[in-house]
Amino acid sequence: MKLIFEKGAPGQGLSLMPPCDVPEITLSRPRTEPLDLPHVSETELTRHYTALAKRVHGVNDGFYPLGSCTMKYNPKINEDMASLPGFTQIHPLQPQETVQGCLEAIHTAGKLLGEITGMDAITFQPAAGAHGEFTGLLLIKAYHRSRNDAARTKIIVPDSAHGTNPASAVMAGFTVVNIPSGPDGCVDVEALRQAVGPDTAGLMLTNPNTVGIFDKNILEITKTVHEAGGLCYYDGANLNAVMGVVRPGDMGFDVIHLNLHKTFSTPHGGGGPGSGAVGCKKFLARFLPGPVAEKDGDGYRLVRPEDSIGRVKNFYGNFAVAVRALTYVLTLGREGIPEAAKNAVLNANYMMKRLSEKYAMAYAGPCMHEFVMTLQDLKDETGCSAMDVAKGLLDHGIHPPTMYFPLIVHEALMVEPTETESQETMDEVCGVFLSLWDLAHENPQALHDAPTRTPVGRLDEVGAARNPVLRYLPHD
Ligand SMILES: *Cc1c(COP(=O)(O)O)cnc(C)c1O
Repeated sequence: MKLIFEKGAPGQGLSLMPPCDVPEITLSRPRTEPLDLPHVSETELTRHYTALAKRVHGVNDGFYPLGSCTMKYNPKINEDMASLPGFTQIHPLQPQETVQGCLEAIHTAGKLLGEITGMDAITFQPAAGAHGEFTGLLLIKAYHRSRNDAARTKIIVPDSAHGTNPASAVMAGFTVVNIPSGPDGCVDVEALRQAVGPDTAGLMLTNPNTVGIFDKNILEITKTVHEAGGLCYYDGANLNAVMGVVRPGDMGFDVIHLNLHKTFSTPHGGGGPGSGAVGCKKFLARFLPGPVAEKDGDGYRLVRPEDSIGRVKNFYGNFAVAVRALTYVLTLGREGIPEAAKNAVLNANYMMKRLSEKYAMAYAGPCMHEFVMTLQDLKDETGCSAMDVAKGLLDHGIHPPTMYFPLIVHEALMVEPTETESQETMDEVCGVFLSLWDLAHENPQALHDAPTRTPVGRLDEVGAARNPVLRYLPHD
């Protein structure tokens, strides 16, 4: 396919700009050559982008079971609300009295998410999950510093944590202490007891963890860390497994981040915008990034918390993502939120059960909102890897699950159907998975050659890594 810049020719473009009706100003350093813009008609432009759109697979095209990333259906009404002119036609520097509705929206979204997580205060500034982790860790750091406790420099991270957890801890200036999981996929509590001490700043727990399991020792874990003087951080990126059912705040966690672009319905393919909203208990609220929207008599005002760690992003973060989350929570309501969580868990267990007819599971069920298969045995028997099965799915219009993650499982495929897929769709997909298992035994070469029905076939990944072509070479 050609780039838009390679299409058309001078004179073929369409200028919809009216003649200039204001005085022209010559810049002090005018451009010496005209901008190299495409010269294409509106029809050609539309066709180009439609052709591009047809070559990608999104949640509107078919099943997209990307574990740990929750590519869920996002209700269209959320887009309508986020694009209301009252939310979009504003400027972050305009006087607070003129944006009271927007302040009310973030205040209300914060209150509702606080209620769902069991936290007392929320900031919407962080732009993504990892950014939220970084922010939450800075709160923990500020807390220890406020008590003149400089010895607490270590963050404990179980090996079943999301990869961003240790990275964020290092970014925030901590040293990471890794602790192993047991064969049940849960934190090894004895190892945790050995790891905590006067140098423990806190623990970061991804729950459900990256193998899709709710840690059964969670109360003991938070108690152990608190008794050692540390704080507890809950990675709530995937709250869709538990929202409305249990609250991290009640389990003893002091700080949490939520991925509003996973659980609370902002489409997040292609890299953004996202929101890693951070919630905390009251005793940490004075350290939150400012400003936060507070109720003030009949209205709202923006305030900077007294011991704020400072800004982590401009203004109020990706505000429209908070509006979508607010719409999502209000639409589902008190009954709908736990129902969505239970359906997410039910769907994952349904697929896990059906697929375990042939595929080996990394951990015994039941799972939470996602499960991990290990294709090591299949690979040993047939030569077909997790990658081959993933590529085979593409020929059936199914996006592969997360591959080779979590790292603690060999030949991992991590499946998250989400709450919105129907039984009919899941049956179809399970049928494809099971037929690929048979194909691996009958004709492994066919799987090594897959995909054959997609716009591009199997890519030479080794070649791409060894001999990268980093500059686009235009067509003649
Ligand atoms: C996705 C995810 C993150 C990171 O979120 P980003 O928005 O990609 O930075 C962190 N933790 C868990 C458990 C996740 O699933």
